[in-house]
Amino acid sequence: MKTHRQEIIRLLEQGSLSARDLSRALSIREKEVYDHLQHVRRSMAGQGRKLVVRPFACLNCGYVFKERQRFTRPGRCPQCRETYLEEPLYALE
Ligand SMILES: [Zn+2]
Repeated sequence: MKTHRQEIIRLLEQGSLSARDLSRALSIREKEVYDHLQHVRRSMAGQGRKLVVRPFACLNCGYVFKERQRFTRPGRCPQCRETYLEEPLYALE
């Protein structure tokens, strides 16, 4: 039986997925996916690999949350104050 973390790594090796995709695939909450992703990022770095994140982006003005280190959803766009955001995608390099 694989752990959720191993399963996330396996899925991301096959292509880019959002936290929602991962939560559905593993039948766990998105919040748990974010916790796992933090560990995945750390363990990948130790192996000379990289968790690549296409960050949150504002669907209203196009602002990209490039500097964001946390995985959880930002409250609103700092530029236009909208809350309608494009979900990030994760992949392994
Ligand atoms: Zn915006």
